[in-house]
Order: sequence, then C-alpha cells, then structure tokens
Amino acid sequence: MPKRVVFTPDALDQPFGQQILARVEAHGLEIERLKSNRLTGLRGSDTRETYRNAKSTLAVVCAPPSALRLQPTPPSADWQMNLAEGCPAHCQYCYLAGSLSGPPVVKVFANLPELLMNTAAYEQPGRITSFEVSCYTDVLALEHLTGSLAECVRYFGQRAVARLRFVSKFNQVGPLLGLPHAGHTRARISLNAEPVVRQLEGGTASVEARLQALRRLALPVAEGGGGYPVGVVLAPIMPVPGWEQHYRQLLDRVAAALDFPCDLTLECITHRFTPGSKQVLLDWYPATVLDLDEATRAVKRNKFGGTKYVYPPADMHTLKQFFQQEWQQRFPQAPLLYWT
Ligand code: SF4
Repeated sequence: MPKRVVFTPDALDQPFGQQILARVEAHGLEIERLKSNRLTGLRGSDTRETYRNAKSTLAVVCAPPSALRLQPTPPSADWQMNLAEGCPAHCQYCYLAGSLSGPPVVKVFANLPELLMNTAAYEQPGRITSFEVSCYTDVLALEHLTGSLAECVRYFGQRAVARLRFVSKFNQVGPLLGLPHAGHTRARISLNAEPVVRQLEGGTASVEARLQALRRLALPVAEGGGGYPVGVVLAPIMPVPGWEQHYRQLLDRVAAALDFPCDLTLECITHRFTPGSKQVLLDWYPATVLDLDEATRAVKRNKFGGTKYVYPPADMHTLKQFFQQEWQQRFPQAPLLYWT
C-alpha cells in the first residue's frame, strides 16, 4: 500500500484513470489531485529520503506519446509494452536502477486502453508477436490498486496473433484466475535461491508464496486454477556460497508445486550490473551485501558502447551446465527459452 497517491489532471480525464481512482478509494487511501501534469515534491533532503518518499508514492499519470513507439525487448519478447514504471519493492540488485532515471516513484498509466490498442500496429499476420509488460515494473505488486494486468490479459485473450508475457515476484494472483485469457498470456514467476531472496529481495513475496501462486496460475480451471501457460524465471542467478544446494532445493520445490502436467517454460538470467546501476544501487542500499566487484567479472559491451559486468566465461559455463542439467532432470518437457 502506498503512503501517498497522486493523480494528474490528464489521468483523471481517462475512463481507465477513473477506474483506478475507484479502486484506490475502495482501499481507503487518500488521493491528492495535482493541479498540473508534472510530478513534484518527491525529493527529500537526501538520497535516502528521496528513495523512501518515491518508493511509497503511487502516481497515476498518462504515459507520454513516446510510449506509443514500442521498443524491442530480446530475448524475452518481441516488444515491451509498459503499463507502469517503477516498483514498490526493494530488491538490492534491481535492474530498474540502471534503466529508469530520477526518484524511483511508481507511475501507473491511466491511458492503458490506448497503449493496448497501439500494440495492434506491431502485430504481423501469419506470425505470433509477443509483448512483455514487466520490463519496468512488477505488475502484480500494483494489480490490487490498478487492475491493469487483468485489462491486458483480457485484451490479449481476444487477439489472434499476439501474446502477452508478464513476470512477478509477488503472489496475489486471485484476480487473474477466471479471466478469459484464451491461453494467450504466459504468466511467469521470478524465483531465486532462499539466501538471495532473504538478503536481497525486500518487500517481495516469500519463495513459498510465489510457488503457490505459480501453482494456482497453472492449475486447470476445472480445478480452481487459472489454466495459464506458465513460466519460471530464475533471476538473477548468483553463485552465492552453497549455490548448488540452494538452487537444487529451489528446483525441487518448483517440481513439488507443479506436480501435474502443464505448459511450462524456463528463463535464466545471471546477475549483471553496469557502472550506472552500481552507483544508483549503492546510493539506495549503501549497506548491501550484493557482490558488485568489477574485478571478479567479465566486461560485456553492447552495440551502443555501453558496458555491463557479467560473470566470467568459465563461471557462466559451469552455471549454465548445472541449470540445464538440473532443469532437464525435473522438467524434460519444459524448454529453456534462453540463458543470459
Ligand atoms: S520486484 Fe523487480 S522491479 Fe521490483 S524492486 Fe524487485 S527487481 Fe526491482
């Protein structure tokens, strides 16, 4: 629950913005109606206070016209479509630190129906086009206040050649069960080894709660589940002390939660950071135990000249072999979509 909820005038003009308003009010939260469409008053006296203020503020705004020009998002999907930017959780490795600028306020988009209609221009006849909505937020963390994800699931349920993908570290999946998704949404849950979750993923759901959410999403509708195609996203994979044992235990728990036939995929993302994200994360979490030591990493450059620090090739090879084998043993039918 945010401490502060603000609506811009443009957001209040949108019918979907009015729906969010009704939901937020039903949760007993006080609303501030801003006089202009600019968000102000988020900065505190220092970085810590700015972080606290921003993370506990929900701003309902209209996404700018630039949001209608979608960006590709390999390897997870063809295009990213953002229903919000920012997340109320406190993961100390959060990848948003390097991709969103300014105070980490949570902005949700009141013009979602327009953003959804816009995706039709990116569909191609005769081929499936996928849209990822989790690039800049955790969609389930906000769903109780917005209903945005359910709106997306219903929309893509009616599209012949478009598919929706989301991923979350939260577990409130109840409102998604019973939606007419037509099998067009792949619902993924992000999981990690217990020590990583406990030490680094503040404010998220426990591993057990996420596993139960995954089970509910995957169970057939006739058995009270959502009947969704599902996925496990292991991210960020980190070779913490005892990692093999911790990740084996995690995969055993996934197997126990999914002890019935289902449409399942795996995505594996190893930990990485950039000079920019390291600086932001150390400002936000100065006492973090997260390993951000460049000396133990390999440098990866992208085509725009940006630098990323990843695990060295030999470590990557060991990790990849391990996860491929362990996954294959437990889930021979479920493909690994990518390793990065
Ligand atoms: S749940 Fe995801 S988006 Fe939210 S803080 Fe954690 S890593 Fe960042």
